Amino acid sequence: MGYTNLERMLSNAKVEKYAVGAFNIVDYSTTRAVIKVAEKKKSPVIIQTSTKTVKFYGYKHIVSWVKTLTGDMVIPVALHLDHCNDIDIIEKCIDAGWSSVMIDASSYPLEENIRMSREVVEMARPKNVTVEGELGSILGVEDDLILTEHDSHLADVESCVRYLKETGVDVLAPAIGTAHGVYIKTPNIDFGLLKEIAEKTNIPLAIHGGTGLSPDMFKKCIESGGVKVNISTNIKHLFKDALEEYFEASTDYEPIKAIQHLETRVMEGVGDLIESFGSANRA
Ligand SMILES: [Zn+2]
Repeated sequence: MGYTNLERMLSNAKVEKYAVGAFNIVDYSTTRAVIKVAEKKKSPVIIQTSTKTVKFYGYKHIVSWVKTLTGDMVIPVALHLDHCNDIDIIEKCIDAGWSSVMIDASSYPLEENIRMSREVVEMARPKNVTVEGELGSILGVEDDLILTEHDSHLADVESCVRYLKETGVDVLAPAIGTAHGVYIKTPNIDFGLLKEIAEKTNIPLAIHGGTGLSPDMFKKCIESGGVKVNISTNIKHLFKDALEEYFEASTDYEPIKAIQHLETRVMEGVGDLIESFGSANRA
């Protein structure tokens, strides 16, 4: 299948009861490591980019990494833009070749969220690009936006039903109690709410803040209707820890060896998550 959007990938996951990992890459090496381990595990995979990463490297470069690395692979690989409320950036990603985008207008009133999300769907549809939207507010740090417990509210089912009907987005990220960043205490995830949204909407649901959740929590998220799990903080930690580990143990000046070590560590970490999500051997 190779380079594709989220449609078939997530509808298959929904039917077969597993989740596809969406990994926020930070450079070429992490992109390569994620695609390599997904191919090794015969798993569908989503390469995800924050707007910060897109701005840093530029639109065309990231698309060319992913398309070149995917080549004629059999596994489905998507390139998805994570949380973005800037329609201009979303349009540039779609034009550059992203296969999927997220419009996160969840900080606006519902009417405005619906209006902006619909605008993105209308822009994406003719180019066969899938769209993820968000309802409620997910805690923690996303790029430079910080949401504390004080600002948080979970998604409500009625609004989800209305939002989906009026926008036509392909994937929904409802706030269910997970958070971005590192969990200081065990998150209080509302699995009942997730399940109710899944039953009433029948749409693929994305779980944000996957870093730090236990394999048991992943299992419960999947049983309750989650089919996409976002992993960002974990990749950042693997990146820093792997390079520190390499340079502390070596006296050489061999960047390629350090990068090889980084790729090995990312492949191990992402490989374990792919197993937890049950997406191995599904491609
Ligand atoms: Zn998120």
